[in-house]
Parts: sequence; C-alpha cells; structure tokens
Amino acid sequence: MIAHCKEVPEFTSNRLIHDDGIEMKNLLGVHALVWTGGWSPEEAEFAIASTAKAGFDLIEIPALDPSRIDIADTKMRLENHGIAAGFSLGLTLETDINSEDLSKVDLGRATLMEALSIASGVNSTYLGGVLFGALAKYPGPTSQKARENSASVIKELAQQAAGSGITIGLEFVNRYESNLLNTVQQTLDFMELVGEENVVVHADVYHMNIEEDGFRAPLLACGDRLGYVHIGESNRGYLGKGTIDFPEVFEALVDMNYSGPITFESFSSAVVDPGLSNTLAVWRNLWTDGMDLATHAREFMSTGIELAQQTTQSR
Ligand code: MN
Repeated sequence: MIAHCKEVPEFTSNRLIHDDGIEMKNLLGVHALVWTGGWSPEEAEFAIASTAKAGFDLIEIPALDPSRIDIADTKMRLENHGIAAGFSLGLTLETDINSEDLSKVDLGRATLMEALSIASGVNSTYLGGVLFGALAKYPGPTSQKARENSASVIKELAQQAAGSGITIGLEFVNRYESNLLNTVQQTLDFMELVGEENVVVHADVYHMNIEEDGFRAPLLACGDRLGYVHIGESNRGYLGKGTIDFPEVFEALVDMNYSGPITFESFSSAVVDPGLSNTLAVWRNLWTDGMDLATHAREFMSTGIELAQQTTQSR
C-alpha cells in the first residue's frame, strides 16, 4: 500500500499497484479543499492524513497565499504519510502577467517565483494552475502584447523551475476564469511561444466540458505534452452525478498512455478558502462530508481507469 510505505511516490511511473489491486501508471491525487480551507499545522495534518486514509497518493495544495505555508512543517507531514504534493494557484488582476501593465507583470512574476520556492522547499515536482494570468472574469479579450508578456514570464519561471526539477503546468480554464487560455489548442500554441521543455498542459475536464467539442480529440492532441489532469464533475460535486462523459475521458487517457497524475477536484461551501472559494464562485453546498466524497471519488477514478483498460485491450 503506497500510503504506508513512507516513501513519497514519484510523479510518473511505469507501474503502480494501488490498494485495491488495480494496476495503473498514474498517481491519484486530491485537492486540499476537499479537506480544509486553511494550512495551519493542524489543518495540514488533517488534510495530508485524510488524503492517505482515503487511498490517494498525492495532495494538491493551493499556494495562492504563500505566507501561510510552513515549508518545513509541510514537508515533514508529507514524508510521515508518504504523500506527494503538487502546488497550484491562479494569479489575480493585481498580479496579472497577462497584462500590458508592467507593474502588474512584475508583481505576478514575484508571486510565481515565491510559489516556486515553496514547491521546491517541500520537494514537490509540480507547480500548476492559472499561472499565465489572472483567475478572473476579464472585462474584454486579451491583447498580443499581454499574451507575449505572459509567455515571457512563464519562460523565466520554467527556466528557474528546471533547476529544481519542477514541471510547470498551464491549466486552461473556462472563459469566465481567463481570457487567455480556454482550450487545449490555445495552450499548445502558447507553449510554442514559451518554448521550454518542462512546461506541460494541465487539463481539467470541468473546464473542457464548457469549452471543448468533447474530451477524446483534445486530450489526444496533447500527446506527451499532457502532464497533469484534474477530474471534476460538471457541477464540481460528486463524480458521476453530473454530465461529464468519464468513460470517454478515461479511455482517452489510457489510449494515449498518459502516465502523469490524475487529481480529483471538488468544491463546496462546506469547506471555504477565503482566497479561492469566491473566485471559483463556490456558492452552493454540494457536499458536507469530505471523506465520503473523496473515498467515492477514489473508487470512481480507479474503477473508471480499470474499465477503460479493459475496453482498450478488447479493441
Ligand atoms: Mn482545475
């Protein structure tokens, strides 16, 4: 059992046998907001211990407010529970690198570099999210200059990250949360502009469900540039209760031999992060029991992958 071996698992692997005997290549992760909205030592312990208890390999920790993350304390707790960590954040309109205003670009660069130093400090190998601009509803479309400013900062971030073996994930999101990257193709085009090997596509099926024609074609279009996947329902609640075509998603991931992490993301007004919940428009109570939600998601994900393996093998 991975959670008991006290060895923090690697981000990509050839083969992992999970508790339930299902063999897959992917680390399975869960977002910290399933457990807690803060990151005091007590909250960190609860979140990391619960992640292990629910059978996950990885926790995704929001780094929107780096000042609240105690690096040594977090690293120790992750090691105690044998849990890997990824970090994620979205910039704000004040720290927007997708802007023509260079003072905002400078603030955004500083925020990203600080988040990178936290990821590096806890031995994480992943920093992803809406790193390329504000996580916000913009009043208008982006501009060529703003896009170039963003790509230039992401290039600097990626070069700095490479020194610590950290991968930078660009999470394209729906139109209400970014005006720069809403689809796989826009993300791949942007990555051409950045031109760094350690920059990957971070695909979230909740956003894809809004912006893409489907799941299979865009996921396959990523090829080996796909580096991180968020699994979430159309209403961001319990998996299987909404309208996302999960068999299509899992079959695409198995077919393309995707070996990176697959992380469950869900938000409810039951667990609130003052920095993130309002930005994500989490107004409704979609669940109250994080452990019930997470163990259900864990089972749903491994079963979905196993069924997809059977389907693709029988072709
Ligand atoms: Mn996401």
